[in-house]
Amino acid sequence: MSTTRVLVTGGAGFLGSHLCDALLAEGHSVIAVDNLLTGQSRNVAHLRNEPRFEFRQLDICEPFDCGRVDYVFHFASPASPVDYSLHGIATLKVGSLGTFNALELAKKYSARYFLASTSECYGDPSEHPQKETYWGNVNPIGPRSVYDESKRFAEAATVAYRRYHNLDTRIVRIFNTYGPRMQLNDGRVVPNFMKQALLGEDLTVYGNGSQTRSFCYVSDEVDGFLRLAASNEPGPVNIGNPAEFTILECAQKVLAVTGSKSNIRYEPLPQDDPKQRCPDITKARRLLGWDPRINLETGLRMSLEYFRKALQGNS
Ligand code: NAD
Ligand code: UDP
Repeated sequence: MSTTRVLVTGGAGFLGSHLCDALLAEGHSVIAVDNLLTGQSRNVAHLRNEPRFEFRQLDICEPFDCGRVDYVFHFASPASPVDYSLHGIATLKVGSLGTFNALELAKKYSARYFLASTSECYGDPSEHPQKETYWGNVNPIGPRSVYDESKRFAEAATVAYRRYHNLDTRIVRIFNTYGPRMQLNDGRVVPNFMKQALLGEDLTVYGNGSQTRSFCYVSDEVDGFLRLAASNEPGPVNIGNPAEFTILECAQKVLAVTGSKSNIRYEPLPQDDPKQRCPDITKARRLLGWDPRINLETGLRMSLEYFRKALQGNS
């Protein structure tokens, strides 16, 4: 990517803030916008004195204009099942109104546009592993629908702006990503297990723990974003680590990495919880030369200090 002025919506979130760091490291100027619904200003506090970085607190569901930009990375949206259940309407709004506003801004400045979509577009998949060509199995009225359908809508809107307005767009489908700056209380499995293990509390495995996920460390994931952003591939492209683990195996890894003696406690499986999820990354490998490098155990070790400090309240 040539040096540009880049907008990141959701820039104070977990992935958005890591993306800001990576874009700045590539030499770009970055403006991050965020309403801090599920993000934290401390995620970008280290950039306070960076002259190429600007943060604006605003809600992208209202039309906004931050001046000319060359690239729009649209990452704003609650992302964890706990967060999007709590903020269901806000999730639908940011996926629809927020997406339109971000697309309109890109159109106004003839900027390129990059949508953070999700493996949730595949729902509880009947195809495994999931290829980009799979249309998914989503319950449109279930508890996850506020998120799944808003992302499917955001994909449709992105493709429509490409089709009708010639906007230069990219769509990434992100699979479960973890690492430093995840909120301790967002209910996702890695922060939950890390917190519970470090506090010596029971690890709460939902269902019998046989459901699977594929966990990608954040630096690998962001590397995939940058490669896709710099390519001419509109996507959607899956970016995720294809190493698949049951949730019980994930709990055991966390116990091993933390050295915790915590027990496992089984709790009811949430409604519509996908039984299996694993990306087919043939497309990313072929078109972007991308492959994740950090396995789950290493990534959990690399995250340990962050979770320890976050628990002490000084992350
Ligand atoms: P996050 O909650 O940490 O970040 C999302 C950010 O968007 C937050 O800072 C939040 O305050 C902001 N936001 C929400 N509504 C907004 C609004 N109306 N206006 C301005 N800002 C708003 O979540 P994350 O894990 O960093 O996810 C970032 C993006 O990546 C999301 O779009 C999510 O759907 C996608 N994604 C993440 C994962 C993952 O594993 N982390 C997986 C698939 C997709
Ligand atoms: N999960 C769990 N215990 C927890 C949190 C999550 O067993 O404390 C399970 C959850 O039921 C799901 C998987 O871990 O099967 C991943 O959940 P997460 O909320 O991290 O993300 P999802 O992939 O479901 O969006």
